[in-house]
Amino acid sequence: MSTVHNPLLRRHYLQAMGISVWQRRSLPDTDVPAPGGGSEPAPAVIPHSREADVWNALQDAVRGCTRCGLHATRRQTVFGVGHPRAQWMFIGEAPGADEDAQGEPFVGRAGQLLNAMLFAIGLKREDVYIANVLKCRPPGNRDPQPEETTQCEPYLIRQIELIKPRLIVALGRHAAHSLLKTDLPLARLRGQTLSYQGIPLVVTYHPAYLLRTLTDKRKAWDDLCRARRLLETATAPNLMTGRTSEASRDSVTARGPRTRVPGVPPITPPIGENA
Ligand code: SF4
Repeated sequence: MSTVHNPLLRRHYLQAMGISVWQRRSLPDTDVPAPGGGSEPAPAVIPHSREADVWNALQDAVRGCTRCGLHATRRQTVFGVGHPRAQWMFIGEAPGADEDAQGEPFVGRAGQLLNAMLFAIGLKREDVYIANVLKCRPPGNRDPQPEETTQCEPYLIRQIELIKPRLIVALGRHAAHSLLKTDLPLARLRGQTLSYQGIPLVVTYHPAYLLRTLTDKRKAWDDLCRARRLLETATAPNLMTGRTSEASRDSVTARGPRTRVPGVPPITPPIGENA
């Protein structure tokens, strides 16, 4: 039995989030979905060589980036990590000290809590994609500056275009503001059905905030459960058309404008997508 389907481990992670676990006596604990979030597991990664080239070029562009002042103080860039065809994409604001040291987003205590949150809804870290709006650490973990976000967000937009996630979870106020181009408080954004370029988007708390504010873990759990329901709705076929809203979204996204990052060639849509 995989760890994801192990009810004891799942209960352990829920408890790590501060969530009380209630279990029906008469039903087995079989409601944990397959890794990847939908009814189907994430597809196997057989990267098209062209697509792999684009990913490599994008990663190289970030690694050598000097578009904002943060390049001068970073130890290394923090590109992103996870499945390149992930259904779920989690987006935070910027690397912290641990991320700057290790070159990977959401490591350290906040990363462990994010892993627990993922596990609690039946996901594994390697099945999702995790990134930040900024790819370099702001000194002293200060808030991102608008100019830094403006300069850096083309990289994130390109990542989203390549992954084509079925759902985006914005972790914290800064990520939500950057993606949604709003300055509404987090409390107003949580609990709403939002979208980024046609992709359902859920706003929840940043794990680092939850480490300081244990009482809001329950709300984060509610957000993740709502996100899962949104994803399941997106992948359910329309009884009239036989198409999923996901299929419709793909065709719209494929025809939409693509973000150019200097030095990174655009992907040519697969044959048929431009029809
Ligand atoms: S934060 Fe982004 S824009 Fe600024 S130097 Fe790093 S990669 Fe470049």
